[in-house]
Amino acid sequence: MKTITINNFTIPVRLTASARRKRSIAMQIDQQWVHIRTPLRFRMQDVDAFLQKKQHRILKHWQKAQQKATITNDFVKGDAIPFLGKNYPLDLVHGWSTKWSLELLHDRFQLTLPKNTNESQIGELMQKYLKKRYMQQSKEIISREVIRCEKEFGCSVQEIYIKNYKAKYGQCIWQEVFFSYKIVQFPLCIIRHIVCHELAHIEHKNHGPHFKALLRQMDPETPKHEQRIRENGIMLE
Ligand SMILES: [Zn+2]
Repeated sequence: MKTITINNFTIPVRLTASARRKRSIAMQIDQQWVHIRTPLRFRMQDVDAFLQKKQHRILKHWQKAQQKATITNDFVKGDAIPFLGKNYPLDLVHGWSTKWSLELLHDRFQLTLPKNTNESQIGELMQKYLKKRYMQQSKEIISREVIRCEKEFGCSVQEIYIKNYKAKYGQCIWQEVFFSYKIVQFPLCIIRHIVCHELAHIEHKNHGPHFKALLRQMDPETPKHEQRIRENGIMLE
């Protein structure tokens, strides 16, 4: 793994070369690494020069990402479940029936495992149940927000899809909107902003001034919310 060292911090760098990228180098920073996207043909010295030039920014965002509870696939890290911007402790219970459940009880999540669950399966099952639960919750929460936006701003959505995106929160194709189920880990104001962003794309496909004006109208706190999202290192598409 390639790394970059800035002020005694060694930060992993992940490189992806993509045919879709024509010339420029793109960067995303999260709590795991600096992700660099390059065109298919690139020179390592250009990547190194890019990293050198951006080192101040890399360090700043990477340190911030370390401090934050960010979106992660590893839901059970530290036995805490991020949900709507808060981290909840997770309690594991071995159940008496063949059913599992995951409930929020008095500020703690309680995961009840099916009876006879093998110790070695617990990690895998936890991931599976949490993902399922996040999927259900995000469908509910996002649908509610979409309906609210439709009423308030007269947008018209044909279909809402909840997806397992790796590096984006949402997408809009014509009148269909797609969201990462993981956004349910964010505070509601950020979920709202992400919904507004994608719904504004029904009207304006790019991020030009018309799009920006509409988004600002839908979410007056757009600059604050965009900054919060930027600090988490993943860009909206
Ligand atoms: Zn966008």
